[in-house]
This record gives sequence, structure tokens and C-alpha cells, in this order.
Amino acid sequence: MRCLILSDLHSNWEALQAVLEDAAGRYDRILCCGDLVGYGADPNAIVEWCRARVHTVIRGNHDKAVASLEGLEWFNPAAQAATVWTHHQLTGENRAYLAALPRGPLTVDGIALAHGAPADEDEYLVDTGEARQAFAYTERPVTFFGHTHIQGGFRSSRRRTEKIGRPGARAKEAVLDLEPDTYYLINPGSVGQPRDGDPRAAYVLYDPADGFLCFRRVEYPVELAQRKIRQAGLPDLLAVRLAAGR
Ligand code: ZN
Repeated sequence: MRCLILSDLHSNWEALQAVLEDAAGRYDRILCCGDLVGYGADPNAIVEWCRARVHTVIRGNHDKAVASLEGLEWFNPAAQAATVWTHHQLTGENRAYLAALPRGPLTVDGIALAHGAPADEDEYLVDTGEARQAFAYTERPVTFFGHTHIQGGFRSSRRRTEKIGRPGARAKEAVLDLEPDTYYLINPGSVGQPRDGDPRAAYVLYDPADGFLCFRRVEYPVELAQRKIRQAGLPDLLAVRLAAGR
């Protein structure tokens, strides 16, 4: 079963379209680590696409906040404004869908999905010290996570825990050699709001049968997504950061 792994779409329709075009014909099933909405201008289109196309999706902190308008005190002002705007934009059905999304970690066909750390969906997994603790909670050789919007992840063998890099600025992809007796925490990166210094939309292709895992980056019309954010009256910062990938 070839999987397309997505995370942190954040209502960015242009980025999602570019990812789907780039990955066309290379996957049988789509799995998603959450944060469908928040920040971008196309929440209904993204949620409707997920409802129709994604095999398994868990909730992200933005999905939870948009559905309930609770916990906003943890968000910065721009994120708060986008959350309230998104809540009111969504149709009742789409809001109910977000409210009913399962909490991670969730395992599907031996593949684990989490939004933040496996033990806490709201926790950011950034450095190897945090990853070392997180591996104690992983039950599967490969766990996908999101939340940081940083493509890459970590590998853990009996000897040590190490960071895994993303493709370089000029590379479209980086294939990861999966080794036996090694556990992986893999972040596909963010489709809709990358924060690793590379503005290109990020995703992963994964085939557990072949042990194939590939990080991919694809350009998309950032200016179009930015224009929609500004036209919607969302904070300008949310448009600006898309071009910087920060
Ligand atoms: Zn996110």
C-alpha cells in the first residue's frame, strides 16, 4: 500500500493542489497528521477535499481550536484571529467533521499517526532530546507526526537517536534508507505553511512493503495563496511568512 503522508495543510488550497499534482500516480492512500485548517483562506475547500479523499486523518491543535474556540489563549494574535475567522467561515457540516476527528496517536495498517509528540498532541518535537523521550511512547517502527512544520524527523537505534534532514534547497526529494532494528519519527513537513526556511510545500511518500520513504518538496503559486489571505482580511503576517517559509 503506497501512502501519501500529509500534515499541516492549514487551509492552503494552492499548496495542496501542487502536492497532489506532484504525487499523482505514486500513491494508493492518503494519511494525514492533522491541522487541516487555520492560517489560510480556503478552509471549506480543504475540509471537503479531506472528507472525500483522505483515508485516515487525526486532529491537530488548530482543528480542535477552530471547532470549539477553546484554548485560544495558547495561540499568538495572528493565529487567534485566523481561528475565529475560520470558525465562522466553515459550514456546520465541516465544523462538525473537525470536532469529530480522532486524537492521535492512531495506528492504521501498522503506521502510527500523531500530531505533536506521541504522548501529547500539543507538544512540539524539535530536538533529539525531546525525540529520545518521544521514542519511549512509539509502538510502531514508523510514526508520522507534524505540528512543527519542519520536514525531517528522527531515527532511533539501540546505539543512539539522530536527527534526519530534509531535501536541500535545490533538491526536489530526499530518499531515506529505512534500516532494520531502527525506529523512526517522521515529519512529512507542512503542506500549507512550511517553517523550515523552504517555502515549497512538503510531503512524504511511504511504501511500507518496499521500505520506501521519500521526502518531497514542490513549488506552488505562493502569491495566489497570499492574495486570498489578504482579500479575506486575515493578518498580513500570515501571507508574508508563506514566501519566507518561516
Ligand atoms: Zn500546524
